[in-house]
Amino acid sequence: MGKLINRPKVEVLKRIIQQEEQGQYLEVIFHVPDNTEQINVKMEVNSEGNAANIIDLGVKDPFRIRGWSGGARTEFFISKSKATPGYLQGEMPVGEWAVLLGSYRVAPVGCEVTVTVEYTPLTSRWLKGDLHVHSVHSDGTYTLRENAAIAEATGLDFLGLTDHNASSQNYAYPRDTAIHFIPGMELTTNKGHLNLFGVDDPVKDFRITNMEELHSCLRETREKGAYISLNHPHCRNTGWEWEWEFDYDWVEVWNGPWRADNQDAVDWWQEQLVKGRRLVAVGGSDTHRPNPHVKHGMPTTWVYGNECTTPGILEAIHKGHVVLSYAPNGPFIELNCGTSMVGDVCSEREQEEVTMKVSHTQYGDVVKIYSNKGIEQELLIEEGQDMLEASWDIASRSFYRVEVWRYFHEAKSRLMAALSNPIYFR
Ligand SMILES: [Zn+2]
Ligand SMILES: [Zn+2]
Repeated sequence: MGKLINRPKVEVLKRIIQQEEQGQYLEVIFHVPDNTEQINVKMEVNSEGNAANIIDLGVKDPFRIRGWSGGARTEFFISKSKATPGYLQGEMPVGEWAVLLGSYRVAPVGCEVTVTVEYTPLTSRWLKGDLHVHSVHSDGTYTLRENAAIAEATGLDFLGLTDHNASSQNYAYPRDTAIHFIPGMELTTNKGHLNLFGVDDPVKDFRITNMEELHSCLRETREKGAYISLNHPHCRNTGWEWEWEFDYDWVEVWNGPWRADNQDAVDWWQEQLVKGRRLVAVGGSDTHRPNPHVKHGMPTTWVYGNECTTPGILEAIHKGHVVLSYAPNGPFIELNCGTSMVGDVCSEREQEEVTMKVSHTQYGDVVKIYSNKGIEQELLIEEGQDMLEASWDIASRSFYRVEVWRYFHEAKSRLMAALSNPIYFR
């Protein structure tokens, strides 16, 4: 799946502590290189059978103390988006850091401390998440911690917080889970819904009763740095009924279980692409409460980024580096042309072919290839075929995009199982 392995670099440092140093805070210097995603630090005290040594542990970066665990831990990690309790996540500045050893008790013979530092470089990979989830902060029944636990069990990396016209969720979500929460709000009007992503307090006043108020609300959220997604535009109950000329970034073409209003959204999106518009398609489950059909990660939005942080994820989505699949283990689509991928604009002069790889397929799946000329090809997955590779000429095409359709016995019909964003050509 194009997933690159993060291969950490390991450094082992030793420090002998004499009894005279008891009561001091000693520093073991290490250097964090450029483009580091995470450091893992481990301390071992060789007391040679002498239990009298008590060495506390902490760390400082070039500017400040980044964490302290006293005698409670012998290891910790810090990354941009997460850290061991007691340690601060955040920027990973390049330069001189130090492991802090608090020599609380040192035996007369002293002791040797071995510090192991592991550096994991930033590496682009496919992150998976659900951009549209509700909670008790609006009309959902899940707490934020319950949402995190379910998403984690589902194998997701991130969740978008999109409670209706509320922002309290953005101040209340747990930081100590494996799930990265993207702050947001579903701006909910009587004539359509928009997800606002990336800021804690997207709008001061959600009440929109005319286009002028809509424009002014979106201006406010833009100034704060939010990305705007047009949600379920063709939903039969809560579709878009305002004018279509307004400021937004992405369109949610896949909301919850596959159904006719999602197909209408994809058809509309295809028309926009044919007109030459480069509009990013996203998905979201719109989960509110336990439901056999509406579940976290159904669909899953896959995002190719190098860090699981709010700006990292949102900037990657904005580049169109996005693929949707019906579930985290659903089929997966890759499209490449030279060094370009989905969302990119590839210069026709450099490359003549686009290559496709569809993985996690199963017998009976149908792979549909679309371009600005409409549907170009339909390929059937044969028995025992869990992968499909193909390539086509890009002459006179402005984009290619791919869909995978699968027969679902539960639904007794063939439904969308994966959908890629387009790869574009000049
Ligand atoms: Zn909605
Ligand atoms: Zn919603």
